Amino acid sequence: MAFSADVKTSTAYPIPETQKAWVLGDPGELILTEKPVPAPDRAEVLVRIDAIAVCGTDIEVIYQGPPALIEGGLPFNKNWTPGHEYMGTIVALGKGVDEYEIGQRVTVEIHAGCGQCKRCREGMYTSCHNYGKNYGDQNKGHRANGFTTDGGFCEYAVNNINTLAKVSDVMSDAEATLVVTAGTSMYGLTELGGLVAGESVVITGPGPIGLLGVAVAKALGASPVILTGTRDNRLAIGTKLGADYVVNVTNEDAVEKVKEYTAGIGADYVLECSGARNSLNEAGKMANRGGKICLAAFPHEDVPVDVMHLVANNIYVYGIRGEGKSGTRRAAALMDQKRFDATLIHTHTFDMGELPEAIRYAKDRVEDAIKVVVTNSFAYAQKAEAAE
Ligand SMILES: [Zn+2]
Ligand SMILES: [Zn+2]
Repeated sequence: MAFSADVKTSTAYPIPETQKAWVLGDPGELILTEKPVPAPDRAEVLVRIDAIAVCGTDIEVIYQGPPALIEGGLPFNKNWTPGHEYMGTIVALGKGVDEYEIGQRVTVEIHAGCGQCKRCREGMYTSCHNYGKNYGDQNKGHRANGFTTDGGFCEYAVNNINTLAKVSDVMSDAEATLVVTAGTSMYGLTELGGLVAGESVVITGPGPIGLLGVAVAKALGASPVILTGTRDNRLAIGTKLGADYVVNVTNEDAVEKVKEYTAGIGADYVLECSGARNSLNEAGKMANRGGKICLAAFPHEDVPVDVMHLVANNIYVYGIRGEGKSGTRRAAALMDQKRFDATLIHTHTFDMGELPEAIRYAKDRVEDAIKVVVTNSFAYAQKAEAAE
């Protein structure tokens, strides 16, 4: 591979000129193609993708487009590769990079931000004011792989070093793909104040972010941790991840149960991960006076909100986007210490060649899929060769 002299590579990790990559065609259409392997620039590395998880947001992006933004518009038919929850091995270092080594296992967070706007300077790089501006004379160098720049449904991706978290050998590849999901839950709890030890936390919605929200809240000492949802099998996973109480809202009144479990006053924090129609109003009634609500799910319709209840009870409402303020690294630290077993939400595995099937499992929740992980046989062949 002919990178410029600024880029460090190693014969232990040979890099081909081109790679197999999935690109998005029309809505819902994924096409397997051949693309050049990108070169890492200053403060960037090249990651060989070993495994990648499918996220609900990938499905939004593949079928609807937003929040992906490619060259200022929809992501369709732009030779663009989606996918953002990946982990892998560093195989090349861009100019000036001495923070990481070739051969190191890393997992990634998504948003590198532009690094020059007000929000990036505050650590809120997922709210970068230059989101998607990385082309032509608009170029602010913003990167959010799998949203505004090429993602991970391929063999190699370029990452800014600020988006990397080291993965130790106690974590499997599949487990490492789940770090960014736990990082989103961590960011939500961070925005609510972070110091949740001894405080009551409700998590609504046992999807991947909700379930790992339970795990992170419990690992940070929250008590009690209450999970609400509609599927008993998912609630049971919540119990294994540390929920003190679970409430199935199809046959129990969630607000009443939360009151019962919090000495009648309601919860200090509610992390809303369901996106359900009445979720904000319910969260308002679950929270105690002066309590805080974090909205972490994308709802699909406009909803009427009981603002009077929120104002009269001094309830704070926060919206979060993704995984800011280095939440991913803190989540990785908890997972490294085996404070919870994120793999409980990993239900299915496919090879990268079968990506459309993996997406179908995640989209249609085939066999009640929660997290579907896709592994790269190309990378595993290289690993096997290196081990010989
Ligand atoms: Zn995601
Ligand atoms: Zn920015």
